Amino acid sequence: MSHTAVVTPQSAHQAPYNVAKLREDFPILKREVHGKPLVYLDNAATSQTPIEVINVFADYYGRYNANIHRGLHTLADEATEAFEGAREKVRAFINAPSSREVIFTRGATEAFNLVANSWGRTHLSAGDEVLISMLEHHANIVPWQLLAQQLGFTIKVIPVHADGALDMNAYRALLTERTRLVCVNHVSNAFGTINPVKEMASLAHQAGALIIVDGAQAAPHQRVDVQDIDADFYVFSGHKVYGPTGVGVLYGKQSLLEVMPPWQGGGEMIDTVSFEHGTTFAALPHKFEAGTPAIAEVIALGKALDWTENVGLDAIGEWEQQLLTYSTQQLQTIDGLRILGTAEHKAAVVSFVVEGAHAQDIGLLIDQLGVAVRTGHHCAQPLLHHFGVEATCRASFAAYNTRDEIDIFVTSLRRVIDMVR
Ligand code: PLP
Repeated sequence: MSHTAVVTPQSAHQAPYNVAKLREDFPILKREVHGKPLVYLDNAATSQTPIEVINVFADYYGRYNANIHRGLHTLADEATEAFEGAREKVRAFINAPSSREVIFTRGATEAFNLVANSWGRTHLSAGDEVLISMLEHHANIVPWQLLAQQLGFTIKVIPVHADGALDMNAYRALLTERTRLVCVNHVSNAFGTINPVKEMASLAHQAGALIIVDGAQAAPHQRVDVQDIDADFYVFSGHKVYGPTGVGVLYGKQSLLEVMPPWQGGGEMIDTVSFEHGTTFAALPHKFEAGTPAIAEVIALGKALDWTENVGLDAIGEWEQQLLTYSTQQLQTIDGLRILGTAEHKAAVVSFVVEGAHAQDIGLLIDQLGVAVRTGHHCAQPLLHHFGVEATCRASFAAYNTRDEIDIFVTSLRRVIDMVR
């Protein structure tokens, strides 16, 4: 029996999850690699793009390409409306109170750099402490390290248990009156651990600190509600949630964004500019969006969120959990394979090492069989060092992956391991 058949998710109110039909939205999934059907399991690095999102670019550049906000002509109006419409879609997607709290950036990385250079530069100094979880992607580590070198505050690390779950007792102990900021991902890209960010936000706030949540790996897989989490800042990238590269989102509480200085200057972000009297800045969100933004990309991100909402994040999450369980079971049957990151709450990411087979070799050879997995440190070197490895293989799943693909992946992996051992 084909595993790509229609399945019924647990929640009765949802339509059956028809993965075969949903795959038709993705032209790339029909391609071959080295003469084999593509099995794309590198979704934590970037997800593939549905045709309606791809079509946004031809439509935008073919029909209404214009610079936004200041033009009085029809094309500028249409482009502005589509751009600001996408902002509203993002607001609804993360349940932000206001679209003024949604800032478009180049990606998650730029969003962290924005907060570090604007909020961080004006609120942190020697004697302060910033807590960063051991699970963080470099994007939520390095901007803080760069700033710490200049401002002299201290970075402390929230440790992890052996299963890759954060040590919440250690976190509680690290929170003091010196803590100004907590940096944590909602879902770890390296291990898939889902962190208790709501509880962490509450504890941070009790200590008088803010929390910045990296949602790059959460937004594609589960419903995000920034109000429920009570996140001060929440960040994600377009290209991991079925959208294009070159666009990301920073959500920030209005009360914080209002008093933060701009971090980049230029057009779009000003109210008035004068050599005599200096510059006054535009209202939110434009204060943080200097220059011409990635207009088509933002509109395409809005479309990607439409696609995700149409399929349903709950349905996607349930499907991916089935893929996670199945792939974990299958991988555990391979001799000498060790999964890193086995926390109780996990998203659809499986990171593993294989005795006697280097991750890079596996990645290269399995590609010859049409299977795309990621190998390396996953931009989480501190975490991997902590677990005593330099690299892992990582399979990460998206809405369109199937059990058949996992079968191909595991069979291919067995072949590759036999070749290198
Ligand atoms: N945070 C996490 C958890 C990620 O997985 C990534 C990308 O892999 C990033 C941040 C950085 O995202 P981007 O490269 O799109 O800025």
